[in-house]
This record gives sequence, C-alpha cells and structure tokens, in this order.
Amino acid sequence: MKIKEVYAKSVLSKSKIYDYVVNPYVGCQHACSYCYARFMRRFTGHQEPWGRFVDVKVNAPDLLRGEVAKKKMGTVWVSGVCDPYQPLEAEYRLSRKCLAILFRHDWPVVIQTRSPLVLRDLDIFKESAKLRVGLSITTANDEIRRVFEPRAPSIAERLKTVASLHRNGIRTYVMIAPILPEAENLIRMLAGKVDYLILDRMNYCHADRIYERHGWQDRKTDEYFARVGRSMVQACAELGVECRVAYSLDRPDESP
Ligand code: SF4
Repeated sequence: MKIKEVYAKSVLSKSKIYDYVVNPYVGCQHACSYCYARFMRRFTGHQEPWGRFVDVKVNAPDLLRGEVAKKKMGTVWVSGVCDPYQPLEAEYRLSRKCLAILFRHDWPVVIQTRSPLVLRDLDIFKESAKLRVGLSITTANDEIRRVFEPRAPSIAERLKTVASLHRNGIRTYVMIAPILPEAENLIRMLAGKVDYLILDRMNYCHADRIYERHGWQDRKTDEYFARVGRSMVQACAELGVECRVAYSLDRPDESP
C-alpha cells in the first residue's frame, strides 16, 4: 500500500450528485472490485492498482476553513472518490476535522461510508441538524461481500453500525448500490433501522470477470435488476421502509 501525504490546492469541489464534494483522501483501502472511482488513477499518475494507493490531503481542514467562508452554502457529499472512514482515517482524522468545520458553519452534509469507524464521530454528528449518514451495503451474504469487497468491513459490522446511528437519532440511510447477488434479503434486516433506502443497479463493468468466474452473469442483466428491484420495492412497502430507486424498474421489453 502506497500512502503519500500531499498538499491539495482546494478541497470543496463542485459535484454532480450534491452541490459540493469533499475528498480528504484520493484512493481507497477498501478496494472494492466494482469501484467507479478507479478512474482517479489516471488523474493522480499512480501506477499501483486501485486500492493500493492513497493520497492523504493533509491540508484539507485548513483549505476547507477558508473555502467555507468564501463559497455559497450548499449540501456537501463526504466523499466521492474515497471512503471518508477508510482505516487511515483512524490515524489522520481528516474527515472528522472537515466535518466539524462544516457543522460549525451549519452546512448540510451527506456522509457515505462502509465503515464502523464512522461511529467514532457520533459526538460531533449530534451538533448538526442537517446531517444524513449513509452506509453502503450491497448484499446480505458475507461470502458474496468477500468476493466483491474483500477488504471492506463485514455486512454484520455495517448492519450494527447503521442501527447504532439510527438509535442515536442520526438521520440514516442505506445505499444498496450496486445491487449484488442476495441484496434482496437486506430489506427485512434493515426494517426499523434506517430512515430510508436507496437502490441502484450495477452500472460499471469493472467486476465483470468476478461475475463470470462465479457463473453469476444472469445476476447483472437488465431483466435481473428490474425484477429484483421490483421485489425489493414491494418488500419495503410491506415493511413500511421508505425506498428510493435510482434506475428504471421497467422490464427491458417494456421500454418505449
Ligand atoms: S469504499 Fe467506495 S470508494 Fe472505496 S473502493 Fe469501495 S466503492 Fe470505491
């Protein structure tokens, strides 16, 4: 693993998902096989494979302090091309420092992580009335998680984390994205533990070889995502869980 401390020029960047994104790190120790952020290798000049390098923006909190004072308030996504609570955060505490600045200025924040380390910062989360914290959980089966996300926290740890955030009064959501095999079993595990769910299909081809190796090609087709998505929406309705779907649930043959 190549860890490099770097000095960034800015940290509060425009985003297509929310108004802004803050990435205290570039690169991610979780190394998920399907990760869309691997395109960052090109921009950073790293030769190492995705998941084997992290650039640590050691001046991120200093930059953010200045940028928050100058820019128009908007919702900030933490983070886009890294997990803000990847293991290095335990040592560097950059995500925590950046979040404290955003909360102090009352900016709306959406945190997205796969890690129970997020619970370390419950004390500062309680300072914000404009915070949502999302855990990404992509399958209910930890063997399948191990295949696609071998270096990310277990499903059990993530379920415990989301339940704990919710119990502590934090607005909490689970991002079931991408929907991996056996994701549908998550719905009953999450009922009562989240404010809402977001579903999205696999939109990238980086993990195609894994699907082929395991004979799971039929679990990444348009038809599969339409059928599983509809059954998950139905299960949410039955269990009273709010559910947002980020892709079309029409059967491919129903498209105009
Ligand atoms: S945790 Fe997120 S950013 Fe990190 S490798 Fe996985 S998908 Fe990519």
